[in-house]
Amino acid sequence: MTVTLLGATEIRRLAAELDVTPTKKLGQNFVVDANTVRKIVHAAAVQPGERVVEIGPGLGSLTLAILETGAAVTAVEIDHRLAARLPQTAAEHGVPEGALTIVDADALRVTELPGDPTILVANLPYNVSVPVLLHFLETFPTLQRGVVMVQAEVAERIAAKPGSKIYGTPSVKAAWYGPWRLCGTVSRQVFWPVPNVDSLLVGFVRDAEPRGSEDERRRTFQIVDAAFNQRRKMLRQALSGIFGSSSAASEVLESAGVAPTARGEDLTVDDYHRIALVAP
Ligand code: SAM
Repeated sequence: MTVTLLGATEIRRLAAELDVTPTKKLGQNFVVDANTVRKIVHAAAVQPGERVVEIGPGLGSLTLAILETGAAVTAVEIDHRLAARLPQTAAEHGVPEGALTIVDADALRVTELPGDPTILVANLPYNVSVPVLLHFLETFPTLQRGVVMVQAEVAERIAAKPGSKIYGTPSVKAAWYGPWRLCGTVSRQVFWPVPNVDSLLVGFVRDAEPRGSEDERRRTFQIVDAAFNQRRKMLRQALSGIFGSSSAASEVLESAGVAPTARGEDLTVDDYHRIALVAP
């Protein structure tokens, strides 16, 4: 049986049936264009038989496009009304039984995922996009790659390289897990309701080997947070709080091979990791 996609009229009809008025609080901007959801799935190169996790399936437009490829989907949705309707929508659109698993929960609190998905595909709720992404990368090492749609500025920050103005904590923390790249633009006209921001697709491939242990990651992220908390200051000052004084910070930085006069935005994730490794 072929999986069919949701159209704009059906999405509005479903929302009316469920008495759902999209809310900003939950970042509810639904994609109402079949080409766009297929474009996201294509960017993620989802293959038949693969296991995908989708965060925030909403009324199911992207979900059905993933299922159309023959992949299996675990979908995590916080809005109970939407989560409860999805199995019926899937059945009505030709999805084989067992291909879709719903987790009715806040993605930020999920610690287990049925089906051990290896790919992340999502049109993320904009207000929590970075925390949700980092939570999933940290909690589910089985996730090998993914493509997510986020607010354009957020995508650019995630994919930013050292030395650029927009390089910040999301860039370094995301890079901990592997390389990221921008992989497509999406017009705001394909959403209902139309948001007042532009969107971009951003994708990652996880490094074959983890960069460091969980303890190293935690210590690295602490240093990253401190460095960008005072991003205009030289690192010896910005890190003086966590190392006790600016001269102690200078010593740590020098033994990590980093100039104490550098600024947080100059360092790669490798530099931050080395600082964490030599820190007392
Ligand atoms: N995937 C659908 C689409 O493309 O049309 C909906 C995307 S909409 C931008 C974001 C979805 O995430 C909404 O369905 C919203 O209810 C859900 N959501 C918001 N916060 C969430 C959270 N913390 N955990 C899980 N889902 C969440």
